[in-house]
Amino acid sequence: MNILIVDDKIENLYLLESLLNGSGYKTIIANNGAEALGFAHKNKPDLIISDILMPVMDGYTLCRECKKDEILNEIPFIFYTATYTDPKDEEFALNLGADKFLLKPIDPDYFLEVISITLNESQKKTINSINVPELAETVILKEYNETLIRKLEDKMTQSELSEKELKIKNNALQKEIEERKRAEKTIREYSANLNSLINTRNELIWSIDSEFHFIIFNKFYQEFCEELYNIKIEHTMDALLLFKDEELTFWKTKYSMAISGQKIKFELKVLFRNLLHYFEVFLNPIISDEGVTGLSAISVDITERKQAVMELRAAKEKAEEMNRLKTSFLANMSHELRTPLLGILGYAEILTEELASATHLNMLNNIVASGKRLSETLQLILDLANAESNKLKVVENSIEVNQTVKNTLEFFYSKANKKQLFLEYQMNDENILAKLDDRLFTRIISNLIDNAIKYTNKGKITVQTGKEIINESLWVFIKVIDTGIGIDQKHQKMIFDEFRQASEGWGRSFEGSGLGLTISKKMTEVMNGTISVESEINKGSIFTIKFPIDLENNYHVKNVATNEIIKIKNKETFSVLYVEDEEINRNLIRLYLKNFYLVDTAANGKDALKMVKENNYDLFLMDINLGKDMNGLQVAQEIKKMENYKTTPIIAVTAYTMAGDKESFLENGCSHYLAKPFNKDDLLKLISNALK
Ligand code: ADP
Repeated sequence: MNILIVDDKIENLYLLESLLNGSGYKTIIANNGAEALGFAHKNKPDLIISDILMPVMDGYTLCRECKKDEILNEIPFIFYTATYTDPKDEEFALNLGADKFLLKPIDPDYFLEVISITLNESQKKTINSINVPELAETVILKEYNETLIRKLEDKMTQSELSEKELKIKNNALQKEIEERKRAEKTIREYSANLNSLINTRNELIWSIDSEFHFIIFNKFYQEFCEELYNIKIEHTMDALLLFKDEELTFWKTKYSMAISGQKIKFELKVLFRNLLHYFEVFLNPIISDEGVTGLSAISVDITERKQAVMELRAAKEKAEEMNRLKTSFLANMSHELRTPLLGILGYAEILTEELASATHLNMLNNIVASGKRLSETLQLILDLANAESNKLKVVENSIEVNQTVKNTLEFFYSKANKKQLFLEYQMNDENILAKLDDRLFTRIISNLIDNAIKYTNKGKITVQTGKEIINESLWVFIKVIDTGIGIDQKHQKMIFDEFRQASEGWGRSFEGSGLGLTISKKMTEVMNGTISVESEINKGSIFTIKFPIDLENNYHVKNVATNEIIKIKNKETFSVLYVEDEEINRNLIRLYLKNFYLVDTAANGKDALKMVKENNYDLFLMDINLGKDMNGLQVAQEIKKMENYKTTPIIAVTAYTMAGDKESFLENGCSHYLAKPFNKDDLLKLISNALK
């Protein structure tokens, strides 16, 4: 069977041809109605399948021409079209004599079935049964034109529509292209900015992806790697290629930690540009929506900072060393000065009992006063040395502050009297119990009252005590208020520094070491207290110290211990051996004790031990530094070994008065301790206690 396929679209022709050939039909193809008519005349087909709209001659015309033709009119005619829009089109086609009107697209099986049925039907038909339509020519022409115009309009509308669509699509595409261009420009600018930014920095900057490949790096890092590893790094290069052995393990571990999401910071020491450099390296994970995609690294050269710290540390160590030297110098010096001072003060004291002339007594009083001042200064220096080497020993006892202050104040009445100053005490609260070191507390109060008297020429000195609540805790305050010369604002801070005075240099108007307040401050602070000053020049000063106190205990009243009365035994009762290498001191002590005890003296350890064996002593006074050979502690230990001296008191009489000395002597053979210089009463009191 021969089938003539007519279509202006090559793809339609190809499709139908393949379909029909595949089902055993032979096909002839024509591109328009005119060509088809020519082929049909030459070789009459069994079936014509035609599109409608085609150039040169359309499908309707072809159908009419065939149906008018005597030979061709029996050939079945099928319209196969995509431009069907109206039922009228089908009606018109059938009126023209077409057998079928099929619409694209169509199911191939159905299409083939229609072909086969049409062919069968056509065979059965007689030639006569096929009529040229009887419609009048004018009617046909009119309808025909209308149909064609309708189809053309449809096609135009369709093509207009698709043109519009195309335009819209085109515009969208154009927009996308522009946006893409803009984005590319932004990226280019951003990357130029970034490059300029990182390349002008003198930190090492780089980043790597999660596979350890370089993403970005600055010039400095590139130069650094080139000099250090002799490798010019490039983008996407494996960042671990720079390293070997231990360094490789080190960096791999650090990079892996950062890539696992940790922020890392560490220091590197590198020989770079012939100098040892210190770098501080920061590795930060780069986190995006997909998680950690790599790490960014920045390495800052901290060489200068490091050097400054090292220099500072060295300077600090040196300063500490100097301070240690100063402390030990102060301690040694005060020891050396104390020993002769004992002689000076002791003899002066004895002489007061012996001298009758008022002039001589006056001179002697001056010697004693100067000696005492020197002794006080030595005590201050020692206190400072102790405080600076953090050896200030605090023995906290519960003390009643009012009573302690009152007792201390009593010592100053005569001093104030001499300057015709009024000394008054104001107690704001009764029974103030505080856990304080009695000795340190009394020293602080004494320093402040002493200063107040010293720096006040007329008026009065008032000492106030009381309790106050600070930040919900209870504190005790002691104020020493004077109407003296005052301290100007700019000196109010510095007077707490060691050796500093408000008036310094050649024109200084008051004597003093400038240590009292420094020591008072240190002592206050070791007992967790504070010290402060308010002052106005020529109006006076208020020095305030405050200590935290136990809230609970302050509800109860405690009695203050009364001073113990010294009992002195008869001289026949006890015999004392004084071991001392300095003759002057041996004689002095003998004089001190002559009315109270039997006194023997020994100048060295050997003599002492001999005398110990030959006599029976009730008490030993032991100097510690006995020059060469045995020292006082060794003598004490030897004495202790003897059966009859196991419990005999041994009093260490020494100028070693640094913190810890006393404890050390007491642990090593001595039972009591007396610091040089001491006065007669101190000595008698201690001996009496020891003998009890
Ligand atoms: P010193 O009194 O031995 O000089 P301090 O450390 O006790 O040493 O005092 C330091 C300085 O503070 C004093 O030299 C003095 O200038 C000033 N100062 C201390 N107390 C008073 C006071 N009550 N009134 C005026 N000035 C004072």
